[in-house]
Amino acid sequence: MNTKQIYYQDPYQTELDCTVVSAEQAGSLLNVVLDQTIFYPEGGGQPSDRGTLGTAHVEYVRVSDGEIIHQVKGDLKKGDAVKGTIDWNWRYKYMQIHTAGHLLHDVLMTIVKDLKPIRGGHGKKAFLEYEGELDVSLKEQIETEVNKIAQSGLEVVTKEATYEELERDCQFLPPNLPRNKPLRMIKIGDYPSMPDGGVHVKKTDELGKIWIANITIEDGKTNVRYGVVGNN
Ligand SMILES: [Zn+2]
Repeated sequence: MNTKQIYYQDPYQTELDCTVVSAEQAGSLLNVVLDQTIFYPEGGGQPSDRGTLGTAHVEYVRVSDGEIIHQVKGDLKKGDAVKGTIDWNWRYKYMQIHTAGHLLHDVLMTIVKDLKPIRGGHGKKAFLEYEGELDVSLKEQIETEVNKIAQSGLEVVTKEATYEELERDCQFLPPNLPRNKPLRMIKIGDYPSMPDGGVHVKKTDELGKIWIANITIEDGKTNVRYGVVGNN
């Protein structure tokens, strides 16, 4: 990867001076690679950042062949020095939703023992999906508990981790974890670590109110739809 991932070093940084490493026309957009970036590329269920590079608009950011590609509307060329600015309201909202999803999962696992996580989505329609059936009458208890714990202001730690560390510290490991790139993890308070490459808030009292929209059960699987009424 040619790009320094500044969004991991400081998820709260909203502006960064960067240099265009390459810019290639792709349809109506430019595929731009930068020397360093604060733009989070879509991944792990968390939406891509958007914002501006100088006067150009960053519409979407993704990882392709190991490079962070900024899909840009505007005029940029190799060697240009530009100021990157992310849409902070957008980013912060999805940081809150993503962290809230992990906290909700952690709390759920202390209340219900026989669920196994399948996947989560932390975009507009945020959800957690499990193998197994959750007793839907627990909805209010879970909601109350997760908010009580969120308000207590637990520390959220995210960092790089080796596969061996993840194997040792995590309660659940997805079967398809890549072995050929640096992995990352999240740990909230004293809950178990989870493999995760997202960007997160630093403390759970930044989350605002977490609510469970609904819980549906189908074919032995549980889907928990949730949201966050944020602080911004
Ligand atoms: Zn995650």
